[in-house]
Amino acid sequence: MWKLLLRALLYACASPFFLAFALVRFVRNARTTYRGLRASDDSIDCPVGHPNKLFGRWHCACGATYLGQAFAPCPVCKTVAGLISCSVCSLTIQSAWRD
Ligand SMILES: [Zn+2]
Ligand SMILES: [Zn+2]
Repeated sequence: MWKLLLRALLYACASPFFLAFALVRFVRNARTTYRGLRASDDSIDCPVGHPNKLFGRWHCACGATYLGQAFAPCPVCKTVAGLISCSVCSLTIQSAWRD
């Protein structure tokens, strides 16, 4: 009986933390989904707001040059680019699929 009570008390104490965790996870998911939706468009904005085409010629770190989507895996080494540079201001644009 005491064990059950203790467990209930523990849950009651821990629930605000669980709630906080759930909230953080929800916000994170929403952000990732939002960024993912943006990236599924034809272009992605740099931090300053320049639209950058996602489809084009890309150079992979392995040396391959390929035509395709910016954050699609390289056809040679299968590495997914984590970032691209803005074609206007050279600022880094992070992949929408990475946290
Ligand atoms: Zn590659
Ligand atoms: Zn820019």
